[in-house]
Amino acid sequence: AKQRGKACFVRYADGMKEPVLAHMQLGGELRRALENDEFRVVYQPIMRLDGTRMIGVEALIRWHHPARGEVGPAEFIPAAESTGLIVPLGRFVLRETCRQAAAWLAEFGPDALEEAGLNVSARQLHDPDFVADVAGALADSGLPCERLVLEVTESAVLRGQQVSRALFELDRMGIRLALDDFGTGESSLSLLRAFPAAIIKLDKSFVDGIEIDDGRPADARQAVARAVSQLARALGLDTVAEGVESAEQAAVLRDLGYTVGQGFHLAEPMTADGVSSLLARQRSA
Ligand code: C2E
Ligand code: CA
Ligand code: CA
Ligand code: CA
Repeated sequence: AKQRGKACFVRYADGMKEPVLAHMQLGGELRRALENDEFRVVYQPIMRLDGTRMIGVEALIRWHHPARGEVGPAEFIPAAESTGLIVPLGRFVLRETCRQAAAWLAEFGPDALEEAGLNVSARQLHDPDFVADVAGALADSGLPCERLVLEVTESAVLRGQQVSRALFELDRMGIRLALDDFGTGESSLSLLRAFPAAIIKLDKSFVDGIEIDDGRPADARQAVARAVSQLARALGLDTVAEGVESAEQAAVLRDLGYTVGQGFHLAEPMTADGVSSLLARQRSA
């Protein structure tokens, strides 16, 4: 079955969008859901923009609610963060992703997948056990540390000493850090000095409409996208263009210096089995 990241607003029987359920109440539900094993991880391939090859995946969490069906992260991550449940939830995603990525490498060989990424919230980076959790997940799964990518946002990174210490420690362990949604924050550039990033993920908002030639000499989106790719190259960082929804966008991004992207045009989030099929096809190609 196809699964769109946009997914489903949670709807109640009366057809209304989910009201602002008190986070505490949703927190209780999330705790129950964790115990009932209702969370799943789907994986969105990260592809070469020419479509020839999958280089990695990003893990994205889904909640399979017994009554409401699939619930997307936008509906529950904020409550999970404010109640602290993101810590056990994030640990689940971490362990599951490491286990799965190691299984893919074992089945399809060391060249099958360069990286497996997952999202990390500020709240997790504040958790004093986080670095040990990551080390434990790598050790238990046998996934080599350089295959793991932790995606963090600017707002998460700008949280002071404890977070900064954790990020440098992860970097020292050989884990790669990606700056997610790059360009949407207020200090993206100074961040690159303060933080050991290996990958920049150009935010979807710069990719939306990037293919539209409005005749003006300097389309802002294209100018930003080009500047980011040049900056990344100068700093020796890898890039991923996010939210690539059409062949036209992929072509423009390639002209602007990108080789790798993520988006519905390239591949949608899919189950682990879906990724296995892609890897099998890639191997025999
Ligand atoms: P994100 O990290 O920026 O992840 C990319 C989101 O964009 C995903 O939505 C993905 O399905 C969607 N997407 C991918 N390609 C396209 C495209 O071409 N067009 C459009 N319109 N959307 C696209 P999703 O899975 O709903 O996740 C939303 C956000 O929830 C993520 O944004 C991330 O911030 C957060 N999230 C997801 N899983 C986790 C998790 O395990 N832990 C934490 N802390 N946050 C998570
Ligand atoms: Ca992400
Ligand atoms: Ca993103
Ligand atoms: Ca985002």
